[in-house]
Amino acid sequence: MVQLYKHEPFTDFSQVANSEAYQQGLGMVKTYLGQNYDLVIGGEKISTENKIISINPAKKEEVIGYVSKANRDLAEKAVQAADAAFQTWRKVKPEVRADILFKAAAIVRRRKHEFSALLTKEAGKPWNEADGDTAEAIDFLEFYARQMLKLKDGIPVQSRPNENNRYDYIPLGVGIIISPWNFPFAIMAGTTVAAIVTGNTVLLKPASTTPVIAAKFVEVMEEAGLPKGVLNFVPGSGSEVGDYLIDHPRTRFVSFTGSREVGTRIYERAAKVNEGQIWLKRVIAEMGGKDTIVVDKEADLDLAAQSIVNSAFGFSGQKCSACSRAVIVAEVYDQVLERALELTKELSVGDPEDGANFMGPVIDGQAYKKIMEYIEIGKQEGRLAAGGKGDDTTGYFIEPTIIADLDPYARLMQEEVFGPVVAFSKAKDFDEAIEIANNTDYGLTGAVITNNRENMEKARDDFHVGNLYFNRGCTGAIVGYQPFGGFNMSGTDSKAGGPDYLILHMQGKTTSEAY
Ligand code: GLU
Repeated sequence: MVQLYKHEPFTDFSQVANSEAYQQGLGMVKTYLGQNYDLVIGGEKISTENKIISINPAKKEEVIGYVSKANRDLAEKAVQAADAAFQTWRKVKPEVRADILFKAAAIVRRRKHEFSALLTKEAGKPWNEADGDTAEAIDFLEFYARQMLKLKDGIPVQSRPNENNRYDYIPLGVGIIISPWNFPFAIMAGTTVAAIVTGNTVLLKPASTTPVIAAKFVEVMEEAGLPKGVLNFVPGSGSEVGDYLIDHPRTRFVSFTGSREVGTRIYERAAKVNEGQIWLKRVIAEMGGKDTIVVDKEADLDLAAQSIVNSAFGFSGQKCSACSRAVIVAEVYDQVLERALELTKELSVGDPEDGANFMGPVIDGQAYKKIMEYIEIGKQEGRLAAGGKGDDTTGYFIEPTIIADLDPYARLMQEEVFGPVVAFSKAKDFDEAIEIANNTDYGLTGAVITNNRENMEKARDDFHVGNLYFNRGCTGAIVGYQPFGGFNMSGTDSKAGGPDYLILHMQGKTTSEAY
């Protein structure tokens, strides 16, 4: 009997036993730093000359691992392996597929702190953020396994006398999973297993900055009993391997999480019907956000400042759900800004291995440069109220930064920075605040801090985002509790961790038998 789903609890690191367990995890990770990781194609481990070098963004000289890089030939081999495995995997009973996910969840749970410590090293995640990422990976395994069990007998439809109608969901085929570095465990694992548990076979191309955690996950799935060829591991460059797979006539769908620029490009590319292709490809895309916390005049102002600061600077703002704009009603603007400045000054930035640091580095040199450029733009467009400095000598560190007094259409209010930078803007009243909140191309998350029920209901109707939160921050959606995904340029309106997510990886088949 499958137990009721409950999300994985977060670890309380103020308890000595827990912080020791994390340290032990870190010790374990140190034993395998700098190792080689192979491609996995049809169950065969393949090592290539060309490697992705994964480094610690907090200590640039520390190599996390060397990961083999696929080329076009190997990508072709992987499509063939996935295509062949699909013929058997699609017929494996959903219960058996779900059991593999349950076992994988148990393995990850046993090694939880090791994986979190690896996330600290490879992605620069502070303890609590790494712990959240690992917990979410477990949640995706547990939740999607149960969702598949719900769908396994199809959906009831009507039958007339002397007729038996059925409506079943069948898998699509070979899918390409292109996963991001910011939730290198949770989103990588979640998008992979959603495709697998529904009976598809996949080609996993993880982000090039965080391929080691993905390689470890592939090992976990193998240990959990996943047959060869179902999950093929093909790290590589987007232009060489990614495009080849997307164009391939035998790939059936793409599940992508990443930037708007890459997502829209994949969407266009996947729309083309290539020679030998007999379907229209499906694309599930989770892209960016320019997420706003709106503060009403009737509100808990301390809660407002806390919510803004935590949502803006948690994991250095590198979440598509991060608060990158605070839109505050004029009467309380100065108070909220002042309190947010106080809270920001208390935040320490440094090596995330030290549990005392609230913020670690940003992911790499390219991100560092882009964020520092945005800070310069912000200084011109508005007023630098906190932070603003960076240091990339040993790792890619940037101070939590507040740019105040911005025009609602300033670049800092419109463009996704994906770093620890939040823009503050004043609205004359609540209605104008909601208008400003909606004035971007995106529609991912948002929060409203208010004690006014009428305004809350207005926001529920008019604030056009996929995830709207009241009197809390706008990050940290939990699988099965707050299905996650946005509108407009934030993606294809899918909801990860939601009740209809698996169906995106399947197609409905009607069978009707006459008696
Ligand atoms: N699901 C995460 C959250 O709610 C964000 C995911 C992302 O940044 O891609 O904070």
